[in-house]
Amino acid sequence: MQAKGRFAPSPTGPLHLGSLVTALASWLDARANGRQWLVRVEDLDPPREEPGAADLILQQLSAHGLHWDAWEDRESRMGVLFQSSRHDAYLAALETLIAAGRVYPCTCSRKRLQYAVGSGKTTHNPDGEIIYPGYCRPQQPERMTQPRAEVFFRQEDREGCSWRFRNDNGDDFLLRRADGFWAYHLAVVVDDGFQGITHILRGDDLLHAAPRHQALREALGLPQPYVQHVPVVKNDQGEKLSKQTKAPPLRIDSAEVIQLQLDFAWSYLEFHMPPSWLARVEGCWARLRQQPIKPVAPTC
Ligand code: GLU
Ligand code: ZN
Repeated sequence: MQAKGRFAPSPTGPLHLGSLVTALASWLDARANGRQWLVRVEDLDPPREEPGAADLILQQLSAHGLHWDAWEDRESRMGVLFQSSRHDAYLAALETLIAAGRVYPCTCSRKRLQYAVGSGKTTHNPDGEIIYPGYCRPQQPERMTQPRAEVFFRQEDREGCSWRFRNDNGDDFLLRRADGFWAYHLAVVVDDGFQGITHILRGDDLLHAAPRHQALREALGLPQPYVQHVPVVKNDQGEKLSKQTKAPPLRIDSAEVIQLQLDFAWSYLEFHMPPSWLARVEGCWARLRQQPIKPVAPTC
């Protein structure tokens, strides 16, 4: 099987310098090692998404010479898999986990969880997420047949509950929210498995997610890819570059600026990645650096 890496942006806004660092790192990691490189748009949370962001992200990647291998299937667009088309796959995975007794419905409101923090029953994890105090966790995991799991899901889901993974270490995290949206953890694991991703290189803001994904893959019988993290780029206030911290979008209207952006991303990697990794990807970077850049004129 062909080894594959991927870049999986959420279309909450255009890419900025921080996302370019992660994209370049995962592209170099794949290309320098003869792997395919896929792009997957993680459009799971429509209220947080920005119209047109997915198309702009793909344009930004192309303008920086970060071309992807086409993912061809019924639902893909521009050779890219969109998570919004994967509802059935996530549902099937959830039902499998229900049947195996690895998921339970949770009716806790945000207020209830906040109250649990206030009364000292739990606390936040380093990402600011409330560690689930286990209120809805059944004493014993209940296994069921797959058809029963489907009926159980439909019944409980009508109540508008969320669904939590029963993690062996007690870190029970959400797989589906009460509003019906799929959680990142389930979608990412199902799709990395579906697309045969063997190597993941992403920002270290997702470091905490690695053991969760590992446990979820184990429960779903999916292979474990290699996972590596790049330190995320921070601004002068020590905040991660993001839409919330007002990071400016990458520009694609000038070859000179595109080159500068790429050079910034590479120097950042030079300071933050291990020398052995850099030695492996250097040649590939030199080739990318020599490619002619085609700026894209703004469309309005
Ligand atoms: N969609 C996630 C993000 O934009 C990245 C997912 C991943 O690389 O696992 O933060
Ligand atoms: Zn609960």
